[in-house]
Amino acid sequence: MLKNISFHKLLRFDGLWDTQRWFEPAFVALDAQGRVLSVTETAPDHTPAENIKGYVLPGHHNAHSHAFQYAMAGLAERLPPHSASDDFWSWRETMYNLAGAVSPEQMEDIAAMLYAEMIRHGYTAVAEFHYLHHDKDGQPYAEKATMGQALLRAAQKTGIKLTLIPIFYQRGGFDRPASPLQQRFLSQDPDDYLDLLEQSHALIATSPHAKLGVGIHSLRAASPEHLQAILRQAPPHLPRHIHVAEQQKEIQEVLQHLGQRPVAWMLQHLPIDERFHLVHATHMDHEEAQMLAKTGAHVVLCPSTEGNLGDGFFALREFMQAGGRWSIGTDSHIGLQPCEELRWLDYGQRLRHEKRNMYCFQSGDESGEIALRQAILHGRAATGHHETPLSVGQPFDAVIYNARMPLFAMAPPTQRLSAIVYTADVSSILGTMINGRWCAKDQQHLHQDALYEAFSRTLQALRDTP
Ligand SMILES: [Zn+2]
Repeated sequence: MLKNISFHKLLRFDGLWDTQRWFEPAFVALDAQGRVLSVTETAPDHTPAENIKGYVLPGHHNAHSHAFQYAMAGLAERLPPHSASDDFWSWRETMYNLAGAVSPEQMEDIAAMLYAEMIRHGYTAVAEFHYLHHDKDGQPYAEKATMGQALLRAAQKTGIKLTLIPIFYQRGGFDRPASPLQQRFLSQDPDDYLDLLEQSHALIATSPHAKLGVGIHSLRAASPEHLQAILRQAPPHLPRHIHVAEQQKEIQEVLQHLGQRPVAWMLQHLPIDERFHLVHATHMDHEEAQMLAKTGAHVVLCPSTEGNLGDGFFALREFMQAGGRWSIGTDSHIGLQPCEELRWLDYGQRLRHEKRNMYCFQSGDESGEIALRQAILHGRAATGHHETPLSVGQPFDAVIYNARMPLFAMAPPTQRLSAIVYTADVSSILGTMINGRWCAKDQQHLHQDALYEAFSRTLQALRDTP
């Protein structure tokens, strides 16, 4: 059958896992746009294939990013002045100072460096939870989506597939107006936000691989009425993202002002369903975890950031036991390795419960396989890519792990995914392909030198800013 198909190139890999099964070896035929025409274990007759010594997995989708925060990764790891302890809230002050200083050009340089690094680590798409909307004085740019445009240009430079999620942010807290440092984030009301969403839609419509999402910052940053109005009026097919229950202080505030725990309040007052992606949901009680899982909604977990910020432990066992779905994000970008996120998530639970293999519920369950299936499939729901990865007709977006590494090559196929999840780092990756083309190879992004230079220049300029 394949002989009759005219294809652009034929690749041969040692193996390919499409989230359902392994193909070993795997012959992948691609068309000129890098879409999959076929995946088979036998070669088409007399057709020369390019041999790549690697194991193919669907590219990772990063379900939660604030790109600008990459500029401060590693620079908040000491106690603040005149303080003998540190927490999320003082970290946030440092982050707000950075947010106040970034120009659209600097945003583009930071995001381009970050996205190139994501690609090098095996991500092929990113959901950008984007709330830095206005100029440094808090005034809207002449083009409202100017900052979104900078993020889109960064994505286009690097090859990553961007899902732009403009965020509704209205106030500083339940009984607080926004502080001067929060002025760049604000929408006046739902109409103002929906206008920004519309302009962002027009922007991403110019790019064949970009997508749009709808987002609310958190219960503390939006009034219930406005939150409900936005969810009613936003296009129904878009994924819906919101931060929730990350910190105990937030739980106490929501209890005080809304009379319920945050996830419980959302379940009762919002039309929560499979379109929703609740970011963190760290502090859920047993009932919230069970009820949320039953709605089909997703949770986005960001284990390296949550660990860095001292957030707490997610109720993974309760949520998964009830059939809960989750994906991973890198949030503040203190860590950029997808397998590290999956390890952190499992190890946190192992330490907490003094047990092993916390993704598993049945005898014979394989941790790596369960973790990757959750992250890969539900990461795609979070970015609005609903197609089955690596299937016929879909773009060949893949991360290729090195099949020369004995730990991967010698692992039984049923355990190879765990060997990857629990031992891999970026040096285990041969490269990352997006639309059938290498965007990173041999630990280098295609445009690495230029991106390093622009990013370094921007970091210097931000540091020189008084
Ligand atoms: Zn976040």
